[in-house]
Amino acid sequence: MKIGIIGAGLTGLTAARMLAKAGHQVTVCEAAAESGGLAGTFPYAGTRLETFYHHYFISDRETVGLIKELGLSDRMHWQETPMGVFKNNKLLKFATPLDLLKFTPLSFFNRIRFGVVALYLSKVKNWQKYEHVRAKDWIQRAFGKQAWDVMWGPLLHGKFHDYAPEIGMPWFYSRIHTRAGSREKGMAKERLGYLKGSFQVLHDALVKEIKALGGMVRGKEPVKAIRLTRGMITGWTTGKKNESFDVVLSTIAPPAMLSLLPKSLDDEYWRKLRQVQYLGNVCAILTVKRSLSPIYWMNVPDVNSPFIAVIEHTNFVSPQNYQGKHTIYLSAYLPTDHFLYTAKEKDLLKAYYAYLKKIIPTFSEKDVAQVDIFHARYAQPVIRAGYSQNLVPTTSPVPGLFVANMAQIYPEDRGMSYSIRLGGQVAETIKAYRAPEQKL
Ligand SMILES: Cc1cc2nc3c(=O)[nH]c(=O)nc-3n(C[C@H](O)[C@H](O)[C@H](O)COP(=O)(O)OP(=O)(O)OC[C@H]3O[C@@H](n4cnc5c(N)ncnc54)[C@H](O)[C@@H]3O)c2cc1C
Repeated sequence: MKIGIIGAGLTGLTAARMLAKAGHQVTVCEAAAESGGLAGTFPYAGTRLETFYHHYFISDRETVGLIKELGLSDRMHWQETPMGVFKNNKLLKFATPLDLLKFTPLSFFNRIRFGVVALYLSKVKNWQKYEHVRAKDWIQRAFGKQAWDVMWGPLLHGKFHDYAPEIGMPWFYSRIHTRAGSREKGMAKERLGYLKGSFQVLHDALVKEIKALGGMVRGKEPVKAIRLTRGMITGWTTGKKNESFDVVLSTIAPPAMLSLLPKSLDDEYWRKLRQVQYLGNVCAILTVKRSLSPIYWMNVPDVNSPFIAVIEHTNFVSPQNYQGKHTIYLSAYLPTDHFLYTAKEKDLLKAYYAYLKKIIPTFSEKDVAQVDIFHARYAQPVIRAGYSQNLVPTTSPVPGLFVANMAQIYPEDRGMSYSIRLGGQVAETIKAYRAPEQKL
């Protein structure tokens, strides 16, 4: 079959590789200049760096498996990483059970309760029982009001803003459950993984294999319309040409995909997709002359903070890989009409720097040698209680049109491993597809 794939992120590239391996004629069209999507990179300090911080966990079986399959095992970098929390004007370590015991923003009783409830969630297998429960209600009952006020409430707000009270318990359960699965026995240690040379090494290896199998991956060519004739897929239109396909797979966010389709599509399938909402992300990458703290990942559970986390990447991957430079990501999930999402660079940095100075009082703008700012419009789908009702299968009601994107990942939080899994699943579904007989 002739198959067109919209988007060269990990879902699209994984599907393309599997379909090309099965002998299909595959074309991937990507709007950006390079492949990788949200896990994409840019040239940085003599190498490449993710536009949005990325790592994988031991439990990310699909990511680790794909890296190995592509012969990139020697690129894998595993590192025990220092984690922390900035709370009550203090920078506190927050990685081990012992750190939790010393976590003074919670009463001693609530620290123990925190550990017991997190351990309980790590053991629960039947997440379906939480389907119609809101995370907020469950957390307040199980962890207690103090843990909600101090930690979970502000963190959920940082991730979902005004949607935070509506977020479903399965999403929260999965965050805790999968994270616990990445820890060694006894919950004490957690190691995170990275690819030496950046995740571009993975994207490039995928593209190389797709091309070696006779497929095409074209950048800087957004698909402008998906073409249907008599209700069946016939191809797409890019800025450059019309192309015909037996199958089109869309891996882009539902709001973007729906804008490529006729508005007349109105089955329940499309109505469900229309309901999916997203938060954007704005990430400022500061290249600084010195390390700001010993922490890799610092959560900032404060609704007044302009960012949710400070991620000092070079506490995970040595500055030696970046010409000795230190690299800090300041990340915020925001509605795309939020003033910080639309802010000019100088206004965003003003807000970011003011708060960063609260965390690191010795920080000064003079420490910053370079700033790179990236925006992602579709960074995080809003996963409300009862989200199963919003899930659509990868096979759409339009014969030949398949759909695979982050909003179909559930109950897990979106992540590279799940995109690789989804790309593999949709490729299997497409392989089994037979076009209906055309009536003359
Ligand atoms: C801030 C942030 C941090 C993250 N950190 C991690 C992490 O540490 N670990 C982890 O495992 N996961 C992480 N993720 C999640 C991970 O990046 C995603 O799960 C994964 O990259 C999604 O891949 P995808 O192919 O489904 O979608 P995308 O990466 O969004 O790919 C879709 C592609 O389609 C392209 N496109 C859009 N419109 C068109 C069009 N009209 N025509 C052609 N192409 C188009 C886009 O440019 C994009 O390349 C993070 C995500 C974010 C936002």
